Amino acid sequence: MITVEQAREIIAGAVKPTSAVENVPLSQAAGRVLAAPVLSDVDIPPFNRVTMDGYAIVSSDGPGKYEVCEYVPAGAFPKVALTAGKVSRVMTGAPLPEGADAVIQVEKTGGFVEVGKMAQILEKSASGLNVAKMGEDLRKGDLVLPAGTRLEFPEISALAAVGAEPVPVFRLPSVAVLATGDELVPPSVKPQPGKIRDSNQYSLAAQLKAVGITPSLLGIAKDERDDLAQKMAEGKKHDFLLISGGVSEGDRDYVPEALDKAGYKILFRNVRVRPGKPLTFGAADDGKYVFGLPGNPVSTAVIFELFIRNALALFEGDTPAGRLQVETTLFFNFKRKKGEREEYVPVNLVWRDGGFIAEKVRYQGSGHFHALTAANGLIKVPVGVTEIAGGSKVEARFIREGR
Ligand code: AMP
Ligand code: MG
Repeated sequence: MITVEQAREIIAGAVKPTSAVENVPLSQAAGRVLAAPVLSDVDIPPFNRVTMDGYAIVSSDGPGKYEVCEYVPAGAFPKVALTAGKVSRVMTGAPLPEGADAVIQVEKTGGFVEVGKMAQILEKSASGLNVAKMGEDLRKGDLVLPAGTRLEFPEISALAAVGAEPVPVFRLPSVAVLATGDELVPPSVKPQPGKIRDSNQYSLAAQLKAVGITPSLLGIAKDERDDLAQKMAEGKKHDFLLISGGVSEGDRDYVPEALDKAGYKILFRNVRVRPGKPLTFGAADDGKYVFGLPGNPVSTAVIFELFIRNALALFEGDTPAGRLQVETTLFFNFKRKKGEREEYVPVNLVWRDGGFIAEKVRYQGSGHFHALTAANGLIKVPVGVTEIAGGSKVEARFIREGR
């Protein structure tokens, strides 16, 4: 059976980044991946910019009384060049008048006076004081961001400043989600004896939404070859098909053979991970990918976090770093019978006394979906480890964004 690391490598080797580019308005570009390098079309700042309300001055002029030559608010351009013995009243964001090389903030003066009157300067300045130099952030022609950058608010701000509107980004993958199981009914239906509600389509849709993707929900397939084949054919129109359930070794687990018939080549079945061992991954020649996820709700959710987020990001041309990982102190004693699989255990990560601790949440196993509502992270238990004493350092990853 392959390891988690090997499974990741196989996925990374199989998923080809899309070459399809679309231009989106800057206001819609957050979360997307930049498809072309962006160069600055201006110097930033575009002029020597005043960073404090006060008086522009020739810095060699010390404390004293000086005539105010001009008033320059933000958005105006100064007309008067200063010489020694003169000052101009300037506001934050205004260009520094020619000849001046510093700004004395108003608090260090006798206050603002009208143009033509005498301003009282109380302190000495130094060249460059309260001035952002033209081009000190970026020069015209500088690389602002390379292609492949995931755009978050700092990048959006930089793109706005250099006029990248609209923005070329790689296409998002289209994703279909299919639930399988004769026992499943939609959430709106009260389950009859023997039935349960389908939660996985909805949890996967929520996890996809968190990465900016609205999936097509294909509904619930029966554990029958025909129904599965028909719904899978629909799913295969999408870049990614996520199927929950039916991948184990049960006598009605038809998903693996159905994948084969649908034209997906199975690249792995079964990963040394808990929960989620029966995880199945396949790819078709036409650049379509499929994940068969074990149906237990925690398995489905954890597998999405560990593998599918990355796969979707690779499609977008990103080099995904994955969820934020931290070292944490285990706040309970962990024990398990077998150490064959790399295990991910839901925990609550809390900042305490200068570090994260991992608190226990009530969790009986991968069918226990309610455990995740109390958790914000997963700790990793390596292969071969069956006991971790409370107080030990462990690796953890967050599964929520936090607000
Ligand atoms: P399977 O992977 O099909 O063997 O399913 C494993 C377990 O997960 C069974 O107890 C299923 O009833 C349950 N299960 C499968 N699909 C879902 C689903 N979509 N929502 C909630 N539970 C599910
Ligand atoms: Mg099933």
